[in-house]
Amino acid sequence: MRVLGAPFLFTGAEPAPGAGHAPPTARLVADGALALDGDTVVAAGPRAEVEAAHGKAEPLDAVVLPALVNAHTHLELSHLAGQVPGGGGLPGWIGRFLPARAAAPENPALVERAVTALRAHGVAAVGEVTNTLAALPAMSRAGMAGRLYLEIFGLSASRIAAARRAALEMLDASPQPAPGLEVVLSPHAVYSTRPAVVAELLQAGPASIHLAEDPAERTFVASGAGPFGPLLGALGGEGDRPQGRSPVACVAGSLHAGNLAVHAVDLDDEDVEVLRRSGATAVLCPRSNFHIGGKLPDLPRLLAAGVRLAVGTDSLASSPSLSPLAELLALSRGYPQVPAARLLPLAWNGGAVGAHRVGRLAPGTAPGVLALPLEGARPADPAAWLLAAGAEGSFRWLARHRPEASA
Ligand SMILES: [Zn+2]
Repeated sequence: MRVLGAPFLFTGAEPAPGAGHAPPTARLVADGALALDGDTVVAAGPRAEVEAAHGKAEPLDAVVLPALVNAHTHLELSHLAGQVPGGGGLPGWIGRFLPARAAAPENPALVERAVTALRAHGVAAVGEVTNTLAALPAMSRAGMAGRLYLEIFGLSASRIAAARRAALEMLDASPQPAPGLEVVLSPHAVYSTRPAVVAELLQAGPASIHLAEDPAERTFVASGAGPFGPLLGALGGEGDRPQGRSPVACVAGSLHAGNLAVHAVDLDDEDVEVLRRSGATAVLCPRSNFHIGGKLPDLPRLLAAGVRLAVGTDSLASSPSLSPLAELLALSRGYPQVPAARLLPLAWNGGAVGAHRVGRLAPGTAPGVLALPLEGARPADPAAWLLAAGAEGSFRWLARHRPEASA
């Protein structure tokens, strides 16, 4: 048994008291302690209580916290870091991204390095969106928890049929995911995937979709106009065009609590209400949004509405690092009125990617435990300090995440 004391101990996200839509907040114990049996949390709370039950704590000059979640990334695109200029919105970015991807083969060594970087950024669980399952072996070896969302896209009947066949063959040929990881099929986006297939895949179980990333999606589904039309050949051919008031309206009948709605930048009031009612988790990737379209998701509005939230980095093709706290720091700078303690729960939402124990120091679980050295600092707002110091900082792992034993 190890007993560790810390001036500041975060135990995870705490639900807001009472009913209603109030978002969770980070639970902080000042002068806290943690008892660990191997990687399993035995107790976490006020130092006096933990010491009374488990003996004297070894003092750490660090902030201690549960390991983090990066709920949206594309590790297989790591070789395109810095290769795709931003600005001008999503259709233009896709138009630059597709030839860059076609010209450069995937690089397993860079995927491996990306997984190592995730570890240094304190990440124990990932939502990996994939076309090739290239990151599955490295994620398995590293003990990463979470899901791989294997994408299907195409608007034409023949293209989508081919995409499905290819995905199923890939699944057959891929190694068994390590415990704590699973592969599920997912639609890419409303503008790129046949509407009936979007509905079917979202309804089938856990799935992720890029949704409302850019105003051009709204124009396209509402009228067929705008810059997405000329991209259709590259996105899977002419075919059934999705039609609706907005991209969110197109999937309103299918979204449920197992789904991730990634980006959620271009939303009207009705869209926000659909997201809230569905129980789906909006995964915010603010640095990617800013790089591609110059805009951040409207965090205060989503928090006020009670939409479930998580955070992701998107790929290195549109974001400078794989650090969830760097994304939260960007949100914090964009919305200084939102307390940092309200932001941290976005990086502890393991349930969003099927890693239900990641993000909370619950006794009897092994969620992964991190320490970030204070070097004598005693900040008045430890949550804000954690965002700033942890954004590109390197965490020490006090305990590793261990997936829950399967029943
Ligand atoms: Zn993405």
